[in-house]
Amino acid sequence: MKPRKIPLRKCVACQEMKPKKELIRVVRTPDEAVLIDLTGKKAGRGAYLCGQVDCFRLAKKSRALDRALKQTVGAEIYDQLAQDFIAVEDEFIASKDEPDEAEEA
Ligand SMILES: [Zn+2]
Repeated sequence: MKPRKIPLRKCVACQEMKPKKELIRVVRTPDEAVLIDLTGKKAGRGAYLCGQVDCFRLAKKSRALDRALKQTVGAEIYDQLAQDFIAVEDEFIASKDEPDEAEEA
């Protein structure tokens, strides 16, 4: 039996490769807003960060999102993202525990 292939993405802050599920997608929308995208489906250029506040802080320090999104991301936007992340953290953690759709009982 072959193990199922898990899509990996790289965190732009710590550069670690992780399963997509464990990362938070940050998207630059076509109107140049930078938002957390928990659905992973918003249109725009995306960047991934670990689902932990430390990586938002690291991204801010290293301006990793600026590079990944090819746009200047203000300090207040990094702060906003970190705050938004704290607000959605429970939801994010809960969604990680959901079984994949193929695993219905
Ligand atoms: Zn990270």
